[in-house]
Amino acid sequence: QTYNFNPGPGPIPNEVLAKAQQNMFNFEQTGMAVMELSHRSAAYERVHFHAMNTLRELLDIPDDFSVLFLQGGASLQFSMLAKNFLSDNKAGAYVLSGSWAEKAQKEGAAIGEVYTAAASSNRTYADVPVFDPADLQENTAYVHLTSNNTIYGTQLSDWPACEQPVFVDMSSDILSRPIPWDRVDLAYAGAQKNAGMAGVTIAIIRTSLLDQASGSLPPSLSYKQHADKDSLYNTPPTGAIYITSLVLDWIKEQGGITEMENRAKEKAALIYDVIDRSNGFYSGHADKDSRSWMNITFRLPSEELEKKFLNQASERGFTGLNGHRSVGGCRVSNYNAVPREHVEILRDFMLEFQQNHS
Ligand code: PLP
Repeated sequence: QTYNFNPGPGPIPNEVLAKAQQNMFNFEQTGMAVMELSHRSAAYERVHFHAMNTLRELLDIPDDFSVLFLQGGASLQFSMLAKNFLSDNKAGAYVLSGSWAEKAQKEGAAIGEVYTAAASSNRTYADVPVFDPADLQENTAYVHLTSNNTIYGTQLSDWPACEQPVFVDMSSDILSRPIPWDRVDLAYAGAQKNAGMAGVTIAIIRTSLLDQASGSLPPSLSYKQHADKDSLYNTPPTGAIYITSLVLDWIKEQGGITEMENRAKEKAALIYDVIDRSNGFYSGHADKDSRSWMNITFRLPSEELEKKFLNQASERGFTGLNGHRSVGGCRVSNYNAVPREHVEILRDFMLEFQQNHS
């Protein structure tokens, strides 16, 4: 038995994998697998638009937003959004809440002017920094946020109300909570944590922004180009979009986003509870009011004990519990597809380990 707590690619619901397997050799009586179909065929188009429509339904995406299926991961979005909107003497404002936000800013800086609106780097990103939108520079093209900081285990809870467009990297918490569309203009995420497998990147953008994008873009990097062609401008990652469509169906069957959010909070509470009652044996990295319910980060009293903990965990079938190589320690990634039962087994292991080592 394997308990998959990988930070990404993360687990995919068993029901989804079983369905994909079942349909592998003869999708809808075509005699072919989905990934063998032409992306211009009616059978594939049904998959494509079903995924888009189900995403709209689940996340309550308003009609004046376009849903795009892109490639290149969330990382390409770091530069694509800058390429589309950092024209003339405009600047991108970045809220630095972790390493991914830093990377987003760095990629933006390769394209145009960027500045830091707020940062918690001096606190090793233990919290999500807040800022006053009134302090943003006048030439701000967009404000870039990271809704969940996968590496440090913090999560945004107060969505700022800005006059400028707000762009949010939701790679590690998309589909685990509602998105406040009155405060978000572009939300994007690689699929491989909560929305399927690596290969497709979801971008949801306010349609009115498409016409404001720079006019001199290479078409393949233009949001408008992809929106105008319903994300069929070039060959989309058809197999990955198929898996996303099955994951979205699964979420809907389970009760939708509210259910995902409730489950995530309950599962995360099981682990945070162990941390909080451990008398410091397990010490959480994130400030309590910035804690993420997707990625839970903690340390043990010594690196030696951490090593022992991870080794024993691995022998018991837990995978992915080591912290990111840049910060060390331990991390529990608690994505939608992680069953509550697996978290309970992990909780029991953590309690047992503490009892044996303190
Ligand atoms: N942003 C966040 C918050 C992430 O967690 C990750 C990957 O872990 C990325 C961006 C990078 O995503 P990709 O590998 O799809 O480029």
